[in-house]
Amino acid sequence: MSRSAHPAGPRHADVYPEGHYTAPAADLNVLDEKVWARTVRRNADGVVTVGGREVSRLAEEFGTPAYFLDESDFRARCRAWADAFGPDADVFYAGKAFLSRAVVRWLKEEGLNLDVCSGGELTTALDAGMPAERIAFHGNNKSVEEIERAVRVGVGRIVLDSFQEIVRVAHIAQSQGKRQRVQIRVTVGVEAHTHEFIATAHEDQKFGIALADGQAAEAVRRALRLDGLELIGIHSHIGSQIFDMAGFEVSARRVVQLLTEVRDEHGVELPEIDLGGGLGIAYTSEDDPREPHEIAKALTEIVGRECEAAGLSTPRISVEPGRAIVGPTAFTLYEVGTIKPLEGLRTYVSVDGGMSDNIRTALYDAEYSVALVSRTSDAEPMLVRVVGKHCESGDIVVRDAFLPADLAPGDLIAVPATGAYCRSMASNYNHSLRPPVVAVNDGEARVIVRRETEEDLLRLDVG
Ligand SMILES: *Cc1c(COP(=O)(O)O)cnc(C)c1O
Repeated sequence: MSRSAHPAGPRHADVYPEGHYTAPAADLNVLDEKVWARTVRRNADGVVTVGGREVSRLAEEFGTPAYFLDESDFRARCRAWADAFGPDADVFYAGKAFLSRAVVRWLKEEGLNLDVCSGGELTTALDAGMPAERIAFHGNNKSVEEIERAVRVGVGRIVLDSFQEIVRVAHIAQSQGKRQRVQIRVTVGVEAHTHEFIATAHEDQKFGIALADGQAAEAVRRALRLDGLELIGIHSHIGSQIFDMAGFEVSARRVVQLLTEVRDEHGVELPEIDLGGGLGIAYTSEDDPREPHEIAKALTEIVGRECEAAGLSTPRISVEPGRAIVGPTAFTLYEVGTIKPLEGLRTYVSVDGGMSDNIRTALYDAEYSVALVSRTSDAEPMLVRVVGKHCESGDIVVRDAFLPADLAPGDLIAVPATGAYCRSMASNYNHSLRPPVVAVNDGEARVIVRRETEEDLLRLDVG
């Protein structure tokens, strides 16, 4: 059934069994607003617009492939998350989904905090003026240099991921004469999948310290003893593209249980809980994500209820949405190059990008949708597989979708919901040039990350 091993296990991969595809939409010209950025429309000439700009004009100006990001949608989603959680909670945008200096400025202006997980992300955040105290530093193997810099600039928190790191961060903070605010990342034994979750005692993965066998309790014991550390809370991140709140419920309950044990053993009430990110978005019309206010209500209630039952004062909650903020705000625009009908199977549509600008389909069997955006068509739907131009048969962008049967080379097609984990995971495979990210807002389009050039490639290649 599954074509490739999925990091979240086989139950994830078989979400899309061989030969399965959903029926074509009644009218392929209609754009499902669920999967497109908020200002995307089709105008009277049949051309799709974003922020009031026609994709055909954008393609002329910026070339293809390119990512077009709806800035007003991005900002609106930031505000929706901040408003939903209110002043008594913190929203950290997960920078790994997509980070640039423009994005950092938007986050700063909209009142969000920022998660980084590398020196490069930290540099981008600081360079664009994000105050260090609004930055959280993550990662399962931060280098000594990264930790030294994070402590020196004064990041708001470092999320400790291992026993070695507890000692390492404490030592570095102490040598700088500082006391670093930290959280401990625990694994709660919840494997979250798209539409389900599995509760297990242990998780077979690299992140965090297990709650099982008292390991997390031991980590807390050690962190509390070290002068270089101010332990402010417990962190748990259970997965990605999650729709089912039940996984968060189990996670919150287990984290509160740990807070209770900590209080009983040390007489300390840790003031914060971070429940991570991973909230799902609509990649296709079949996905039904929750709104931020529903998620905030559910999480706040779960934590409040569990703490009340344990006689704990309610900790400050933080969450870390990445995909749920940036994912739906962008689409990738491609030009169709070749079209190859395979009798009795499907039609292969090759575009001018591929796995170098969207690795998620090849990596996770991710599902996407696609639409003809440079014109409308009344032709019959044809079953297609949208593929890239790379030397790899797994170079698939959209595994199964429908496009009009009169599709022709030169048509523009767009894949929605590519704001997260596409540009940030882009590669130079086949020495391709990574596409630009163009922010569109109210009739204005501006490049926020420029297209790579062949000079860029040669500059790294020192001969
Ligand atoms: C990846 C990650 C996130 C964000 O996940 P999304 O699916 O983009 O919401 C949040 N927190 C941590 C610790 C992560 O590793």
